[in-house]
This record gives sequence, structure tokens and C-alpha cells, in this order.
Amino acid sequence: MTAKIIDGAALAREKISELKQIVTSLRARGVTPGLATVLVGDDPASRVYIRNKARACEQAGVASIHHDLPASASEQDVLNLVERLNNDPKVHGTIVQLPLPRHLNAQCVSQAIAYEKDVDGFSWHNLGALMENVPGVVPCTPRATMAMLAHAGVPVESKHAVVVGRSVIVGKPAAILLINAGATVTVCNSRTPDLGAVTRQADILVVATGRAGLITRNMVKPGAAVIDVGINRLHDGKLAGDVAFDEVKEIAGWITPVPGGVGPMTVAMLVENTVSAAVRAAGSNR
Ligand code: NDP
Repeated sequence: MTAKIIDGAALAREKISELKQIVTSLRARGVTPGLATVLVGDDPASRVYIRNKARACEQAGVASIHHDLPASASEQDVLNLVERLNNDPKVHGTIVQLPLPRHLNAQCVSQAIAYEKDVDGFSWHNLGALMENVPGVVPCTPRATMAMLAHAGVPVESKHAVVVGRSVIVGKPAAILLINAGATVTVCNSRTPDLGAVTRQADILVVATGRAGLITRNMVKPGAAVIDVGINRLHDGKLAGDVAFDEVKEIAGWITPVPGGVGPMTVAMLVENTVSAAVRAAGSNR
């Protein structure tokens, strides 16, 4: 059996063109959705992510406004900028690109973004809403995961989902979304003994570890849906996921590639969260 490839790049293009229509009608009402991006320092990978986000915004007609701060910026410098963006009516969404330089407290900075503008969905307000399964801004990568499963027609309810990774950005919110969708969910981490024994039980396997090629063919149940969130830069400069794609695609039912899988859909979800924030702001200003 060869897995169906879930083409995240194509799905992202579809999503962006849907969003463009919504943005066109918002602009006709005098509202241009705006995303503010903040980069502290000059991490090359972060700069690429910011550029991809700006490009996707442009394609959807969303204004993106970038702010660079030097690596030496103090926490107060970053908080002052975030506060300014919180009060700027042209800004509907703000993201501070992670990771931050070590002297800055990422949690403190993330929580300073007004929850209405928290389009990454990392504020405790939005994470709490996710936990309660009530409307809120859902983190982009976990949303991308669910959107890709839905698009591929993968059933979730009553299935066993295994999430490998427990970060607040990916693993935990992905697990909660799967729980909310009616799956039975197991979450693994670096201390999980015999990872393969757990992952082999998964009808849906979501992998977000940052360990290239961690998941091999013998760790996957035949026919499973495998969502590879990992992005790893190999020695030869190529990108690879956390799943050994070539061998796992021979056994899985569905699989996402890297690059061209969860990454572009994550960016599309960020644009959608920004457009939704603008729609809400426009509604509350009427
Ligand atoms: P973190 O480093 O915050 O978390 C990694 C998680 O993986 C941790 O919970 C860790 O366990 C677990 N882990 C590490 N090694 C193993 C192992 N051998 N077996 C089982 N679990 C393991 O990373 P993120 O969640 O932020 O990101 C994960 C990956 O996803 C990265 O490659 C990142 O680049 C990528 N990413 C991709 C995005 C996209 O748009 N496609 C967006 C965000 C991230 P423990 O907690 O015990 O340390």
C-alpha cells in the first residue's frame, strides 16, 4: 500500500484564495486586516518564517507590518512595542516570532499580547478556551493538523490518536483538539519508554519532536494517518520531518510531506486567525 499524500502547499493556496475573498469584502467596508510581526535578533530560520508569513498575508490582501528589534533589546523594549501594537487599531493580530534571545522571557512576552490580537493562540485566555472547547483563537499548527485530517476525510471520532511531543505550541493543543473531536488520545514525550509500542496503536499519528527521522516504518500501524509537524535542517541543507517519509509512506494510509505539508498550512491558519480577528474587531466597532 502507498499512502495518500496530504498536500499542505495546495491546501494552503486554496485557503489563502478563500481568505482573499473575505478580505476584499472587508476592505470594501474600510477594514484592512493587519498583522504585526516582531523579530528580536536575526535568527536566519526565524527570518525565513517571517518572510513566508508576510508573503501569505500579501497574497490574501492582509497588511503585514514588520518590526525588527536588536538581539540586545531588553524585555521592557519588547513589552513597550507589544503595548503599542495592542493599542494600534490598524493591527488586528500580533506575533512575536519565537524563539526569543535567551535573556528574554517568552512566556511573559506572549502573555503581554492582548488576547483579541493573539493570532498565535498562545495566550492563557485562548488556551483556556481551547481546553473548555469554546470559541477562541486556536494555535496555528494544531489547527493546520486538524484541517489536513478533515480535508483528507480521515475519521477522528472514536479513533486512537497518538501525539508525539508535548510542547504548548504544538503537542498539547493538538492533543486537546483531538480530544475535543472525540478521539482517544495518548501523548508521548522524550521519556516515553518503547515509543514504537505506543505509536503502533495509532490510527492517527501526529509527530512534533524536532528529531529527524524519529518515526520509522516499524513504528506505524498499517493504514494510519501520519501528520509530520517536524522541520529539521539536515547536514546537506535539505529540510526533513520527524517521520522517515520514504519508508513510512509505504505503510501509512495518509501522510504529510516535509516540506510542503503542515508548514504552509500553518501559515495559512495564521492568516485566517488574523482575518477572523479583523472581522471580530469590525463587528465590535459597529
Ligand atoms: P519542542 O522542542 O518545544 O518540543 C519537542 C517535544 O518533542 C518535547 O515534548 C519532547 O519531549 C518531545 N521529544 C523530543 N525527542 C523525543 C523522542 N525521542 N521521543 C519522544 N518525544 C520526543 O518543539 P516544538 O513542539 O516547538 O516543535 C516540534 C517540531 O515541530 C520542531 O521540528 C519544529 O521546528 C516543528 N514546528 C513546525 C511547525 C510548522 O509550521 N510545521 C510549527 C512549529 C513547530 P520532552 O517534553 O520530554 O522534552
